[in-house]
Amino acid sequence: MSIMYIPHHKGGVKTIRISHYRTILLTAFAFMLVALLALTGYTLSVVRQNNDMIVKHAEEINDIMSEKEQLQALIAKQAKELADNAEIITTMQSIKTISEEAIDDYKEQYENMIVAYIDKDVKNIGTISRGDKKPSSFKEDVAELRALISLVESAKLSEDDVTSKIAQKEARLNNYLDALPTYWPVNSRTIFSGFGMRFHPIYKRYRMHDGLDMAGSTGDPVYASGEGKVIFAGWNGGFGNVIIIDHGNGFKTYYAHLSKILVKEGQWVSKAQKIGHVGSTGLSTSSHLHFEVRLNEKPTDPLYYIEP
Ligand SMILES: [Zn+2]
Repeated sequence: MSIMYIPHHKGGVKTIRISHYRTILLTAFAFMLVALLALTGYTLSVVRQNNDMIVKHAEEINDIMSEKEQLQALIAKQAKELADNAEIITTMQSIKTISEEAIDDYKEQYENMIVAYIDKDVKNIGTISRGDKKPSSFKEDVAELRALISLVESAKLSEDDVTSKIAQKEARLNNYLDALPTYWPVNSRTIFSGFGMRFHPIYKRYRMHDGLDMAGSTGDPVYASGEGKVIFAGWNGGFGNVIIIDHGNGFKTYYAHLSKILVKEGQWVSKAQKIGHVGSTGLSTSSHLHFEVRLNEKPTDPLYYIEP
């Protein structure tokens, strides 16, 4: 290739000769330079974009991961709450069922017991002297009631409506039991004279004995057989000094021939509370406690109820 230079002023034409080889080389170099620059720029921009994208993606992934973790934590928490709630609900339901059944059982037993003693046993007791009939069924009933109470006690929860209801029922069951005349009213377990027909030591003829004559020396303590209200405390003919306690549910107890009375009419006494002293007042030949249990005003054998 030749480049011809022709000046306007004087002078000859100058020719610069460039060899064909060089021309190709220069052209190629120029192209390569441009290409290299373009490529570098492109590469740089791609790298930059990539870096931006990588950072962005990393941020997104981080966000997603933390969201995922939060979600997992939430799900775990909810699952645990569900499990806990399910457990509590199951426990509460079973407790409710247990206590309701216990109360129903108790109610039924109690009603049956009262009906049985009023309808059947009392009539028999009133006419037949104490004999082969074992005074155990009432005590067995009481034992069952105690078992029911311990069942209700075992079904306690720390706090909620069910608990307070159970506590109320338990208190009621305990109150019923406390009121029943089951406590032996003197320290001695010796009985001089049982319930039923007997030859009376003073009247000298066969007579119904409405209670038990329990051994004791003058001044020995006499205890309330059950919780209740003192409805009489004073002198009453043949009984001498006598205390009568009303236990509710038709039950009354009598403590006769006392040397001393420690309670007043209208006073509430608890089971096993000391209420007086053994004596020999009224129609009595020696110091002892005459103890009666009356159910709906009818004398019944105290051995049905009191526990030695
Ligand atoms: Zn007596």
